[in-house]
Amino acid sequence: MHNPAQNADLIRRSLFSVWHPCSQMKQYESFPLIPLERGKGAWLYDFEGNRYLDAVSSWWVNLFGHCNPKINAAIRDQLERLEHAMLAGFTHEPVIKLSERLREIAPSSLGHCFYGSDGASATEIALKMSAHYWRNMGHSDKTQFISLKNSYHGETLGALSVTDVALFRDAYGALISQQATVASPDARLADPGESGEDYAARCAQMLEEHLARHHRSIAAFIVEPLVQGAAGMAMHHPSYLTLARQICDRYEVHLIADEIAVGMGRTGTMFACEQGKISPDFLLLSKGITGGYLPLSIVMTKDDIYQAFYDDSTARGFLHSHSYTGNPLACRAALATLDIFRQDDVLNANRRKAEYLNRISEPLREMPMVRNWRNTGMIWAFEVAPSRDRFAQRCFQLGLQHELLLRPMGNTVYFMPPYVVDEEEMRLLVERTSAVMERLA
Ligand SMILES: *Cc1c(COP(=O)(O)O)cnc(C)c1O
Repeated sequence: MHNPAQNADLIRRSLFSVWHPCSQMKQYESFPLIPLERGKGAWLYDFEGNRYLDAVSSWWVNLFGHCNPKINAAIRDQLERLEHAMLAGFTHEPVIKLSERLREIAPSSLGHCFYGSDGASATEIALKMSAHYWRNMGHSDKTQFISLKNSYHGETLGALSVTDVALFRDAYGALISQQATVASPDARLADPGESGEDYAARCAQMLEEHLARHHRSIAAFIVEPLVQGAAGMAMHHPSYLTLARQICDRYEVHLIADEIAVGMGRTGTMFACEQGKISPDFLLLSKGITGGYLPLSIVMTKDDIYQAFYDDSTARGFLHSHSYTGNPLACRAALATLDIFRQDDVLNANRRKAEYLNRISEPLREMPMVRNWRNTGMIWAFEVAPSRDRFAQRCFQLGLQHELLLRPMGNTVYFMPPYVVDEEEMRLLVERTSAVMERLA
């Protein structure tokens, strides 16, 4: 609906009273906000009659399109039954069914689901649960964590302590008990002539050396399996996960798989860990779990961890809670999302879509400024060289002019489209991105 006056009014009011996330507010003077009117499928629509292909799934959350009829119907149905109730002392069918379904499909032995509100809260829960487990087991000295270089696990203070992105972390250094990092198996960092797999083995060796020295004080190793998202879609060989699992077992350190971004089919398998043929001690889910509709996160864990808390003593229990823990509307959205995976054979359909996009992207990846073209499942990324001043912002702006929502990280451009993207939309994505690259050259 073309309504420029309403558009200007919404921008003015938003800047007056809404403090936007991940933003230097002053930059909205030169790069205006875009009020959205509606969404449908892979598209977002503004008030000026423009549309934008949501090539980043609205911050990696949307799986089956905006205003998906099946998810809408499930939420509507739940809304008429029970919108929310506390989960301590009470339970409800959506949270039970969701836990049962996840238990069926997750890597083996992850039978217990603990609920949080968003990704960062899942990280907090896993860190606390891991350290508390060791304490209950008589190892109260195991209180440290390790993560990969350039890792991202959320931005609350506990999650920031295992996050290695300077821009998000440095201002809060004094508030955080910063944890050690080990080398990232990011295949771009392999030596010339060294395969991604060999480099992954070399990084696993460094992990082993670190644990050999420090395991007595380490509770857990947290990792984003296969793709480190906020590091700039850094991809690694699945054998790293296999080796990391063996090493963590050898040194009695938990393995936390943060699948907040990479879970739910994003890497080609339902869970990224499947590609390393491993089962972590904690599996974190959020983002796509509700199809991108409502905040919800889940920490799945094993029976021996659960049993370490099961006791007559209240203090040995895991007393963590959030007001909206296990919200029924969010659980119904998640159940509808899992139904779509099953009914539409989504993983196989995605495999064909990924092959198609890889085929048609040949001219884009051959462009002289495109480096490190890579793909895992439904994630594609490349760097643009030489890197230019304010590349990310200029690329974002030019993308919008070409009906694309691209949101580069530094000089890394990536595609992470909703799974409903069709061939015509993929062609548009690739062709328009090429046009944007031409303009930036
Ligand atoms: C997004 C993300 C988080 C944090 O999730 P929020 O819902 O933004 O708090 C944690 N880990 C990874 C890997 C993520 O991509």
